[in-house]
Amino acid sequence: MAKDKPHNSGQWTAARFSSFIKGGLRQISYRWPPKNEVKKEAWVERGVYRCKGYKKRTHKVKLSITVKGKKTNNVYVDHIDPVVDPKKGFVSWDEIIKRMFCEKEHLQILCKDCHTRKTADEQHSRSGKGTG
Ligand SMILES: [Zn+2]
Repeated sequence: MAKDKPHNSGQWTAARFSSFIKGGLRQISYRWPPKNEVKKEAWVERGVYRCKGYKKRTHKVKLSITVKGKKTNNVYVDHIDPVVDPKKGFVSWDEIIKRMFCEKEHLQILCKDCHTRKTADEQHSRSGKGTG
């Protein structure tokens, strides 16, 4: 078995394997009750939610928006602390599971725009030196 492909009879690299596992965890995380709880609490009225706001005030947003003629989800349940700590990177699956399936206090509702900007900032700090 090749050293760089330790999974699936020597066909998968460690990176491929970990994205496979992460994808599976993400799927079951949609059924994590605190996620629905947070979404319920951010409900304002039919089709309208309150975005917590990333680097700006909380504001009302529509549940879905139209981007290039396509209806798209606009309300995300965001992990306040990213699932993978940008400073530490991957530590262990225990750590990933603990952070992914966190209590609702560690979750917030963000609109697509706020969520995109937060994710970009997190990725930026991940590729940085990682000090502090
Ligand atoms: Zn927003």
